[in-house]
Amino acid sequence: MQSNTCTSCGAPIEVKNRFSRVIVCPYCGTHHRVSVEGLDPSGKFPKLAEFPSIFSVGSRGTILGKPFTALGRMRYSYGGGHFDEWFLEYDDSTAWFAEDEGTYTLFTELIEAMEIPEDIHSLKAGANIMIGDRRVMIKEKGEAVIEGGEGELYHYIEPGTKVYYIDGIWEGKKTSIEYTDEEIELFIGRVLLKRDIVVES
Ligand SMILES: [Zn+2]
Repeated sequence: MQSNTCTSCGAPIEVKNRFSRVIVCPYCGTHHRVSVEGLDPSGKFPKLAEFPSIFSVGSRGTILGKPFTALGRMRYSYGGGHFDEWFLEYDDSTAWFAEDEGTYTLFTELIEAMEIPEDIHSLKAGANIMIGDRRVMIKEKGEAVIEGGEGELYHYIEPGTKVYYIDGIWEGKKTSIEYTDEEIELFIGRVLLKRDIVVES
């Protein structure tokens, strides 16, 4: 746990999870990169508008019987609305939880630092794409814009950035690929039922 003050408004800020790379000041919305030296401001963005979610920052409970704490979220907007991606402390590790119009997916595996396939923009639903050594079947492709974040985050993507995503299947598992012009990430997880999620506080 690391205690700091916001570089912009001076409010106390506590980084609770050692894997968090970004923290958003809850008072003024300034985003900071977290490093061993402390907090490095990277910009001030409007606070996220209230939007109902199953969690709020700090929510605790269980998912599939294992304990979680909701550390923060990124909100993405797309043509049809928006979806949230929560960063969780989960079962002594970390996980990501996607909430999209009442559907919930828990991603417990993240693979980073791969090459972006050259054909990624041209491939269509139904095709297979090679991500590293994994062959992922594309179910859906789309694009979204980062609306903003709150709390502690694992990724830093500046609000306003366009991101592309692919929903797919790899070895029978729900797979989500997110990429920008610079980076690509592969998340592996499973779809949850509402009853798999118990929010206690
Ligand atoms: Zn602040």
